[in-house]
Amino acid sequence: IAATAAFGLAACGDDDDGGNGAAGGSGGGTGKIGVILPDTKSSDRWATADQPLLEAAFKAAGVEYDIQNAQGDATQMQTIADQMITSGVTVLLITNLDSGSGKAIQDKAKAQGVATIDYDRLTLGGSAQYYVSFDNVAVGRLQGEGLVKCLEASGAQKPIVAELNGAPTDNNASLFKEGYDSVLDPKYADGTFVKGPDQSVPKWDNQEAGTIFEQMLTQEPNIGGVLAANDGLGGAAIAILAKNGLNGKVPVTGQDATTSALQNILAGDQCMTVYKAVQKEAEAAAKLAIALAKGEPAEAPDKVNDPEGKRDVPSVLLEPVAITKDNVKDVIDDGYVTRAEVCTGK
Ligand code: BGC
Repeated sequence: IAATAAFGLAACGDDDDGGNGAAGGSGGGTGKIGVILPDTKSSDRWATADQPLLEAAFKAAGVEYDIQNAQGDATQMQTIADQMITSGVTVLLITNLDSGSGKAIQDKAKAQGVATIDYDRLTLGGSAQYYVSFDNVAVGRLQGEGLVKCLEASGAQKPIVAELNGAPTDNNASLFKEGYDSVLDPKYADGTFVKGPDQSVPKWDNQEAGTIFEQMLTQEPNIGGVLAANDGLGGAAIAILAKNGLNGKVPVTGQDATTSALQNILAGDQCMTVYKAVQKEAEAAAKLAIALAKGEPAEAPDKVNDPEGKRDVPSVLLEPVAITKDNVKDVIDDGYVTRAEVCTGK
């Protein structure tokens, strides 16, 4: 769906975009930093935002780095981690594919004197020095509240709400669900909404999400709202709704403020998304990594409890922002996407 200036929305007006700036800089005697991102299929963010933004932060600081992507394969992530450690990395940032494999990587790194940081996803039972992420229960709460507002605005009576949850192996998916269910459960309990199908999508796989949602809609053709845990899952649901002539009639949520989600929002097919300023997340993680690499003290103002490891992990937690048609412009102004990408299609 191409959102064009024809929508006449503030987001597609004619002022200039911010744009992401990348700085230069080259390696320099402080140890090398390794980063392993999870995949390219669960969300656009890892390849289009996290990777270039982390690179920019390391270049600006003039540190040596190596960023790779495990392509959704936990064994591959372990192999990359081993190679990075052999190649002399002294700090390793990972976005785990599941806590078990993340813990194995971290424990092995620790045994070799390599410090680790959990980037975006907490490794339960792991041994990371730091955790950098967003307040993920708050992300879910924003999704729940966004769906409530869209359903109220549509005037739907006792709508059936379907929940399309993230990967059961991702601790964040549980936190998002905790957040949105804290908003939706009372609505189910008092009869404002009816609880419909509620299912997790393995590996956040967007294609599988389409298959799962199509089955949900076949079993329950009167689904009136969809709590989709991220934009990839939301986009998959919207495609199935569109096949049935229901796009724009059934509100769908999301997360990540991807270009296609912002277009879906402007087109009226998606209710809302959650914008997480990845630039700030990447900068905070890079700062901690560089401090560890230099053996300098670093600031991590928050604490997150790891119930499995029975410890508090020093953390940096950032605030998520809800995005609807009214404030798509804020994501552009923040330099996360360009106006041209959102308004003229990819
Ligand atoms: C991240 C989300 C992302 C999802 C799928 C989560 O852990 O926090 O931003 O959409 O993984 O990659």
